[in-house]
Amino acid sequence: MSSDRAMIEVRNLTVDYIGENSVARAVNGIDFDIREGEAFGLAGESGCGKSTVAFALARLTRLPGLVSGGQVRLNGEDVLNFDKARLKAYRWNEVSFVFQSAMNALNPVIPVSEQIMDVIQTHKPELGQQGARERAVELFELVGIPPRRLDDFPHQFSGGMRQRICIAIALALNPKLIIMDEPTTALDVVVQRDIIEQIVELKSRLGFSVLFITHDLGLMIEFCDRIGVMYSGELVEVAPAESILTNPQHPYTRALGNSFPPLTGPRVRLEGIAGTPPDLRALPQGCRFAPRCPHAMDQCRVQPPELRYYPQHRSEAACHLLN
Ligand code: SF4
Repeated sequence: MSSDRAMIEVRNLTVDYIGENSVARAVNGIDFDIREGEAFGLAGESGCGKSTVAFALARLTRLPGLVSGGQVRLNGEDVLNFDKARLKAYRWNEVSFVFQSAMNALNPVIPVSEQIMDVIQTHKPELGQQGARERAVELFELVGIPPRRLDDFPHQFSGGMRQRICIAIALALNPKLIIMDEPTTALDVVVQRDIIEQIVELKSRLGFSVLFITHDLGLMIEFCDRIGVMYSGELVEVAPAESILTNPQHPYTRALGNSFPPLTGPRVRLEGIAGTPPDLRALPQGCRFAPRCPHAMDQCRVQPPELRYYPQHRSEAACHLLN
């Protein structure tokens, strides 16, 4: 159950990729909050900036990427200005991560127990070897893996189990926020569903928030409380998850929803989104979606729309059609 209190506030976040002769603005001044206990999803086509936002929140942006503006506040503290010591406490203690490739995330030549205990002991040395081992046992139980398997190597586990181990590591220090970037993409649909159900159960039991990124809009709607839809580095709509399909306000959100097959109800014709997202180094002057939008007007081609809140829909959207 999420509260209305913002835990992470993102304001005017801007991230650039610096090339030899050009700068591509991958994230262009976006604003959103993640509330306590909330699962917040970021949706959009590949290259729209979702993972770039996640990396910026975790302070993992590396050159040629550069966070060139804005603020990320954790309970009021300015994350982008944390010094080294504060950053060490921030990572894993307050914010942890589960990425797509569990196979690559775990070191193949080190038993899993050591990998979990390493995270615990680095951040909580006071627990000692014994305390870290006990916590590792608890974490295995939490994610449904028998603790007798703790000293096995990663290759001795299935893909789904390896991803559960990554979730266990992410939970090791009871973080407030877990960033999950395509956490189930490499898994088959049955395992994917098991893992998502387990994350939902752990979230409601432990109360952490989640930033969830996936290209699977159906999965995201099922799992998330609210969803931000990104297009070409900007948020074009932020709405309760159920509204994304049933009451989308932005033409891109509608088009995105129409690109996915419904799991229930009558069969419908799927419509793709014609065209491709714009080159970030040569963006259109007005609305970035205008070249692909069936409703584009003259105003759209010269004036970028602003993200505004529409209380009647409980959503924010950036589109001139709504004004
Ligand atoms: Fe389409 Fe104009 Fe709305 Fe952009 S602002 S999504 S071009 S109607």
